[in-house]
Amino acid sequence: MAEMADVTIVGGGPVGLFGLYCAGLHHLKARLVERLDRLGGQLEHLYPEKPIYDVGGFPAITGRELVERLKQQAFQYPADVLTGVEATGLELAEGGWSLVTPDGMLPTRALIVTAGIGEFIPRRYQNPVIDDYEGRGLYYVVQELEEFRDQRVLVVGGGDSAADWAMAVAGRARHVTMIHRRRGFQCHVDSLSKLEADPRVTLIPHRSLVRVVGDDRVERAILADGEGRELPDALDVDRIIVAIGLTPETAVFRGWGLDMQGDAITVKTDMSTNKPGVYAAGDMAAYPGKIKLIASGFGEVATAVEAAKDYLGR
Ligand SMILES: Cc1cc2nc3c(=O)[nH]c(=O)nc-3n(C[C@H](O)[C@H](O)[C@H](O)COP(=O)(O)OP(=O)(O)OC[C@H]3O[C@@H](n4cnc5c(N)ncnc54)[C@H](O)[C@@H]3O)c2cc1C
Repeated sequence: MAEMADVTIVGGGPVGLFGLYCAGLHHLKARLVERLDRLGGQLEHLYPEKPIYDVGGFPAITGRELVERLKQQAFQYPADVLTGVEATGLELAEGGWSLVTPDGMLPTRALIVTAGIGEFIPRRYQNPVIDDYEGRGLYYVVQELEEFRDQRVLVVGGGDSAADWAMAVAGRARHVTMIHRRRGFQCHVDSLSKLEADPRVTLIPHRSLVRVVGDDRVERAILADGEGRELPDALDVDRIIVAIGLTPETAVFRGWGLDMQGDAITVKTDMSTNKPGVYAAGDMAAYPGKIKLIASGFGEVATAVEAAKDYLGR
């Protein structure tokens, strides 16, 4: 049987890692449980090379570099860090809680859930005329920006992730075209003005991707107008990045007895949930006005650790 922890953090993304640091700062006996083999959450697995511009103190930092710095910061203190272990349930136990995992029960006095959106799965078209090109010039996840050097790139999507990818590849690509099915792009106004001013980028709203053409790899993209009418002229492209969102998978948390709103756990202003000693922060926390950003998650987990410390009487 594992030792009793003061606080167990479920999820080793940026918010869980910063929470581990905060727990160490208060000399709490901390444990972190991460279902994947590598720490870092969405930053490590979905955008290691993309620059992040909106974390305080860093004008620009890549996902992977931010994770490295978070690990350095967190690992100043001793902690029990378990990777490749999924938390699958939560049970009341003597002195606190027992976290259920396939490897056994992990006893803990307090718990902070920083599990993001659970299992993060890029939203796919679920249409073979597009999806069959994944790995052959079409990307739902970008690991290496160098693969876009001197290429004609199509970015599909109108949100912040799509805009960030368009900006990130523009410096290397031959040309970038960004399309969005709506009439306007929904990314930050600053990203939009930078993209509009960039001669290497063409923005086309009210367009959608309907089909990819190419013998072995992506060669052309067939687009439709806002009314879904296929356009006669195909777009010659070498690479397509599809950034149309993520599909959260949080079913594993449903049986924990926590109040949830959609895929996130309802929290009060101190990040406490409806269960005593159980807190949530980061993308997994739901409250009025919530925005899913790394910066807001950092503040939330600092609050959660402080509240857990008070709960533990420390
Ligand atoms: C393409 C893209 C670009 C983005 N760019 C930015 C940006 O520039 N700036 C910004 O602020 N935000 C950005 N975001 C959003 C940002 O990545 C998230 O807000 C952030 O990752 C949330 O951190 P988190 O630690 O709460 O969750 P996550 O990063 O999702 O980490 C949660 C961790 O919990 C683990 N986990 C889940 N379920 C379990 C379980 N049952 N047991 C154990 N472990 C579990 C997961 O494997 C994961 O490692 C971007 C997102 C995407 C997809």
